[in-house]
Amino acid sequence: MIVSATTGASLVELPLAERPIQIVTEPPGPEARARIAHDQPFVSPSLIYCYPLFVRRASGCMVEDVDGNVYLDAQAGVATASTGHCHPAVAGAIAAQAQELIHICGTDFHYASYGALCERLNLLAGRLAPGQPLFWQTFLTNSGTEAVEAALKLARNHTRRTAIIAFRGGFHGRTFGSLSLTASKTKYRKHFGPFLPGVFHADWGDAPSVEHQLFDHLVAPDDVAAIVVEPVLGEGGYLLPPPDFLPALRRICDTHGILLVFDEVQSGMGRTGKMFAAEHFGVVPDVVLLAKGIASGMPLGAMMARREFMTWPAGSHGSTCAGNPVCCAAALATLDLLQGGLVENSAREGTRLRDRLADRLKSIACIQDVRGLGLMIGVEFDSHARADAVAQLCFRRGLLVLECGRKAIRISPPLIVTHAQVDTIVDVFADACRDVSRERPDAVP
Ligand code: PLP
Repeated sequence: MIVSATTGASLVELPLAERPIQIVTEPPGPEARARIAHDQPFVSPSLIYCYPLFVRRASGCMVEDVDGNVYLDAQAGVATASTGHCHPAVAGAIAAQAQELIHICGTDFHYASYGALCERLNLLAGRLAPGQPLFWQTFLTNSGTEAVEAALKLARNHTRRTAIIAFRGGFHGRTFGSLSLTASKTKYRKHFGPFLPGVFHADWGDAPSVEHQLFDHLVAPDDVAAIVVEPVLGEGGYLLPPPDFLPALRRICDTHGILLVFDEVQSGMGRTGKMFAAEHFGVVPDVVLLAKGIASGMPLGAMMARREFMTWPAGSHGSTCAGNPVCCAAALATLDLLQGGLVENSAREGTRLRDRLADRLKSIACIQDVRGLGLMIGVEFDSHARADAVAQLCFRRGLLVLECGRKAIRISPPLIVTHAQVDTIVDVFADACRDVSRERPDAVP
């Protein structure tokens, strides 16, 4: 029998959320290998499996695979399981709502949770501009990419202008409008063009490049409907903006009547230790895009805009399932938890995680940077191969992390992560970095 070193209890008897990492058969185990091989012929080959994890169930910060291995999830289903996996309050809200009303179509009919969520988001957005009487209206979507699409349509409809500015390094989704903005990696765009006309890219982090590369040569500012930017870069590398970047974009937008759209699909909902990443930088956007963590993994996104810009008329935009009652119920339960202490936990444990990682990794040659805000932490390596080798080794040792950027790993556990779990993340990750660092560069696959 496997017993807990601290409590003496049988580990398999502990609820999954309380179990430690436990690798009982080297991943991928026989069951995972068999099931992956079975499914493969039926599944789109476009999916990117970073490592062969076949999940049976998950709870809190812990994930169990079909071979009985237990992993600590330091990526939260790509920064989405904000309240942890299957939080009882969220699961309960989903179950209760599913007994009452699953779908009626929020574009055409009224129900309580749609309006309640929009009202709640307006209240929350008060944090973006303390003391300013701003009012926000929300269009709900099924995903992050649809929130981006909604923002593009609103910006064109409101301004009657066509051009959109985005940034090299940014990731905004994979549907055609958002993909036209996405410029983090060429693989997302390869063989999919032509893209939306009128999209121009400047360098993320470099506001003068908007004026010098774009306004001086390619597009007149009064043709531009919106500047769409991730305040903290997500898929493109978990990078923090230089201090003047976002304020300078705000000035440019104010000067030329351009809408400033913050894509907070990844950085929002407490991920950076504040409800909105924008709060760190004192810049008030005109439009905020949310998804991922907003409903703890249920498919929901939000395009929130200040009321003066929500000028599109009835019928100009809608969606059949977006904001369905079950997703809204999950979001309202999620917001209760986030406001009930998880955002503070993200700030507290995130700072601890980043500082402890920086300390443990500082003497490891292949580490170039440790950075982040809250539980949105990036570790930069000297090569993509090294970052990939660390992610794979962590997986085999029971820690789930994901790559981002060209040669970085993102660490983004659920916002419920505990002190002890932070210590485990640091230990397993630092050991993996040290072991990979010892290998000769040409031996790293
Ligand atoms: N915007 C950002 C900043 C993202 O990180 C993502 C997804 O990773 C998206 C948009 C697209 O969201 P979704 O995958 O829900 O469509």
